[in-house]
Amino acid sequence: MSFADLGLSEELLRAVADSGYNDPTPIQRQAIPPVLMGRDIIGVAQTGTGKTASFVLPMIDILAEGRSRARMPRSLILEPTRELAQQVSENFDKYGKYHKLSMALLIGGVSMGDQLAALEKGVDVLIATPGRLMDLFGRGKIMLNQCSLLVIDEADRMLDMGFIPDIEEICTKLPSPRQTLLFSATMPPPIKKLADRFMDSPRLIEV
Ligand code: AMP
Repeated sequence: MSFADLGLSEELLRAVADSGYNDPTPIQRQAIPPVLMGRDIIGVAQTGTGKTASFVLPMIDILAEGRSRARMPRSLILEPTRELAQQVSENFDKYGKYHKLSMALLIGGVSMGDQLAALEKGVDVLIATPGRLMDLFGRGKIMLNQCSLLVIDEADRMLDMGFIPDIEEICTKLPSPRQTLLFSATMPPPIKKLADRFMDSPRLIEV
């Protein structure tokens, strides 16, 4: 199966070809079609399997239509660390180079002023660590009621770092119905519980 069989747009296929990839990895083959169809998925996959592109690529096509209003991001990607958040934003730059999506990074260590200015302009993709997001949310700088696409990445690391209560709270602020994608290297009971509570008939993909 090739990238062209997965249902992605011509622009994305071009960006993927520019990246030098020949074939989709197993997680990409199994995740991209259901995500494009709007389904919830749980991807049990380690870093290094190509899991980032398995959510970034379909998200770009889903978000390509429509516009975001000030302070109301249309999608949210939660990452446990700033380094991972930064890496995911680099993936959006690389694969989204033929699209005009706006993106903001909400992470510690970056000037709050720049982050607020980006939010004011309207953001299609918000990439955040839970702490910084809760901080800005609590101060009324951000609204999550238009955010109908959520990615919880590296869920087991979020658990190790004590972020599950924050994630639960964030989930209660998001609209429903929405699409939720969860990725984790392992599925310990608290992550299963999170998925049962906040996901809608997710398809389980294990690679
Ligand atoms: P990830 O698991 O998302 O951290 O990706 C691991 C590495 O695999 C990254 O350096 C990607 O650029 C690369 N990669 C992602 N998808 C593919 C693919 N289909 N073919 C070759 N390399 C890929």
